Amino acid sequence: MTMSGATQSNSYGWLNSSETGFGRFLVGGLLASLFPPRCLLCGSATTGVKVLCEQCAAELPSLEGMRCRRCQEALNDIRLDLCHSCGTRAWGFDLARSLGSYKGAWGDLVRALKFDGERAVARLLCARLAAYLTDEEPFGTIDVVTYVPMSRSDRRKRGFNQAHLLAQGIGRRIGIPARRLLLKVRKTPPQAALPAPERRENLRGAFRLIRSGKGRVLLVDDIYTTGSTVEECARTLKDGGYEAVYVLTVARA
Ligand SMILES: [Zn+2]
Ligand SMILES: [Zn+2]
Repeated sequence: MTMSGATQSNSYGWLNSSETGFGRFLVGGLLASLFPPRCLLCGSATTGVKVLCEQCAAELPSLEGMRCRRCQEALNDIRLDLCHSCGTRAWGFDLARSLGSYKGAWGDLVRALKFDGERAVARLLCARLAAYLTDEEPFGTIDVVTYVPMSRSDRRKRGFNQAHLLAQGIGRRIGIPARRLLLKVRKTPPQAALPAPERRENLRGAFRLIRSGKGRVLLVDDIYTTGSTVEECARTLKDGGYEAVYVLTVARA
């Protein structure tokens, strides 16, 4: 797998911004003949508006090895089914799952979504995430779909929130509308740059509940890094009355 997604993936932007209008259709056709769509991962030609060739689509790897049953952290002791941190403290979220590792293909897809705003990539990821939900037990019981919000200034800078795009696409596919339940009320330094004990402190009070409720929530994000962000969101949701929070992300760092 190459890391060349960012440049190759740009050929999809027009295909998806041209959803209406004959003029755009003509421009799209012309561009298609000049720049035939290529697989975002291996660069080979694809058919139609497909983001990946058939082989790459079939070979997207799931997380390997023994994993914590709550957060999917890799385990090195086969006698345990929880990682150290899930086994020694109470968490806000009940379960976290990712489609695969951020290293490699899933990371390429997340970057294409996040930095190039690829709608075709969003569709592929939403289809994969929705399919995952129907296969995995507790996800069958969710009542509401929501997402990790961005601060207003970050949202303005990027123009969209990739987690919101994913939640909307999943919601459409499973017939449960995505709702905005949380607001990010202040900007926070990137979590990965901070030592573990400071991560929770960094996020404390960063999210505000805008809609209290009941039932089980599916909380969607693009990447699971330390778990601190979804943890803070989950606590905020539970303080607002929701009884369970299941986290689903595309890739795990
Ligand atoms: Zn390919
Ligand atoms: Zn764990």
